[in-house]
Amino acid sequence: MTTSLSHGTRLVAVQRFLVVSALAIAVTSPAQAQRTQTAPGTLAPPMATAAEIRSAVSAAYEKYKTLREGKNADYIPALAKVDPNLFGIVVITPDGQVFSSGDVTTEVSVQSISKVFTLARVLQDSGEVSVRNRIGVDATGRPFNSIYPVEENKGKDINPLVNAGAISTTAMIAGATSDEVWQKIIGTYNDFAGRQLRVMEDVYKSESETNQRNRAIGQLMEAWGTIGSKPAQAVDLYTRQCSVGVNAKDLAVMAATLANDGKNPITGKQVLAAKHVAPLLAVMATAGLYETTGQWLFETGLPAKSGVGGGLIAISPGKYGIAVISPPLDSAGNSVRAQKVIADLGVVLGANPYAVTRPR
Ligand code: GLN
Repeated sequence: MTTSLSHGTRLVAVQRFLVVSALAIAVTSPAQAQRTQTAPGTLAPPMATAAEIRSAVSAAYEKYKTLREGKNADYIPALAKVDPNLFGIVVITPDGQVFSSGDVTTEVSVQSISKVFTLARVLQDSGEVSVRNRIGVDATGRPFNSIYPVEENKGKDINPLVNAGAISTTAMIAGATSDEVWQKIIGTYNDFAGRQLRVMEDVYKSESETNQRNRAIGQLMEAWGTIGSKPAQAVDLYTRQCSVGVNAKDLAVMAATLANDGKNPITGKQVLAAKHVAPLLAVMATAGLYETTGQWLFETGLPAKSGVGGGLIAISPGKYGIAVISPPLDSAGNSVRAQKVIADLGVVLGANPYAVTRPR
């Protein structure tokens, strides 16, 4: 009895709240809604205006263009040769507006950012349950190329955004031949980027000659019986996918496709079914920057993914796809300058999905 009474009281309160909220929305003009605290029940905080995004992007570029912290990856020899001064920032909104500063045309290898898009394909083809059961979605808390979690977790329960889990992810894509699998991988990346991407052959060759650790990870997973019978093929395809060339604009289109519920805002193509986007972003929020993901999420709230080529993407769902390229990395393998830029932009643009009001 007491329960049903208090339930009724709560219902009245909820109804009143809804009426008041509807009135509040009705009397707030769109311009006001942009500037003021968000009305209850609407998307919060509001998106920045085009002028605000433009000026935030160029301010971040100016602020960090002379920063010289970090060091190019050199365990893959080809990456050590990339110009460390390369620096480009792009923000794309779900309605396809593009804001950029710096170099947005020079390509770097996508590296670990590829892991997100291969996972997208596997989610689309095989679904969430098989990803959770066959790969795992918890963070390892270890460096990206660590072999420890493979042994500790008996070849499974390894996040798809570190090498072992990513090699398993690649192995889950069906195909009678290696080329058939590759066409699915590159086709998915092309759809996300909205143009035809190519492998940077020098990077692929360089990494193929120096990827003993990844080959060992593949073989150990084979020994545990968790990767099927073709670990060498999976490692080779994984190495190829990491060598795909992308510029800052490509990465931002890929990020904005995720910010837009799986629909590419430039081409209009639904690349990934909307229902798979939230789980994919959750994996990024858990492990996108490897063992420093907690610090990143604490600061920005943004699901993101880094690559040792110097790229970093971040997604503000429904609002922004953000990409920065700057090759010098910190000790975890994340671009130093890209992290600073995106952290700044996140505050100015109100990008943090956990924040109800926009910080000023
Ligand atoms: N291809 C790289 C590797 O396997 C990717 C690592 C990364 O970008 N963090 O080592």
